[in-house]
Amino acid sequence: FMADKSAKIFVAGHRGLVGSAIVRKLHQLGFTNLLLRSHSDLDLTIQSHVDSFFASESPRFVILAAAKVGGIHANNSYPADFISINLKIQTNVIHAANANKVQKLLFLGSSCIYPKHAPQPIRESALLTAPLEPTNEWYAVAKIAGIKMCQAYRLQYNWDAVSAMPTNLYGPNDNFDNENSHVLPALMRRFHAAKAGGAKEVVVWGSGRPLREFLHVDDLADGVVFLMERYSGLEHVNVGSGSEVSIKELAELVKEVVGFEGEIVWDSTKPDGTPRKLMDSSKLRELGWAPKVSLREGLVDTYNWYLENVKQ
Ligand code: GDP
Repeated sequence: FMADKSAKIFVAGHRGLVGSAIVRKLHQLGFTNLLLRSHSDLDLTIQSHVDSFFASESPRFVILAAAKVGGIHANNSYPADFISINLKIQTNVIHAANANKVQKLLFLGSSCIYPKHAPQPIRESALLTAPLEPTNEWYAVAKIAGIKMCQAYRLQYNWDAVSAMPTNLYGPNDNFDNENSHVLPALMRRFHAAKAGGAKEVVVWGSGRPLREFLHVDDLADGVVFLMERYSGLEHVNVGSGSEVSIKELAELVKEVVGFEGEIVWDSTKPDGTPRKLMDSSKLRELGWAPKVSLREGLVDTYNWYLENVKQ
């Protein structure tokens, strides 16, 4: 993969949190021939459009980071969209990539593919061993189908399709919308607003005790390139930082990075969610990959991006 920097690479979903980080990384590495299409130029849910795009452009590599994503609120409100749009995008892209002789494809999923009560840290082998978390099963079932499609095409056509499953991601281009966002961008926005408005306190949900793993999206992009270069296995691969923080530690770190000087108030009427969510990324670590961005550095980077792009 790294040998030919002029190879044509289709990054599907290049405007999102993940896709935009992959594009930055590939540019940094000197790749010169990225194929990018915004939604209005190519609708990945329409099979005939995807087929003619692949037939005319013949990309050599495909990184599939296009998906309909959202938090618990969005998943609950639009279950039909979450399952059908994601199934269409991945089915169309994987099939057309194989039919048009793409050399290698990497499919991106999410840690929500794993059973609700999977033993922690969660290994790749936990997939399909028990029921899913019901609030996002529409999205999760589509992503599981994507993993299985990559495996099926590898088995039937001896075709090089791999899947990467990232843990909770954050970074530039994240969704900072309060209602639908995950804890890290939600807190960043709230501490920023409190600082700007001179508020004395910031409310954070739950007890502060749940443990979560976070990975800066630049580390994920680095992991994706690593897998494109070094991995051609049947099984999907977890991509995590391996380090856990409590929501309390996270809130204090975000407070410090933003420079808010008031108090944190815990709203115990809000749910904690699952007590712990950590992936086991030892498979990728044993292949020789390690994350580089600490949570503090990653938060500083994300806050700088937020200040430049979102605060208005
Ligand atoms: P989860 O990892 O799937 O549970 O998703 P979230 O990122 O939404 O929540 C992680 C944890 O952060 C939960 O324990 C939440 O209660 C807690 N939390 C604290 N404040 C907030 C907030 O403002 N927004 C969100 N989404 N979660 C918060």
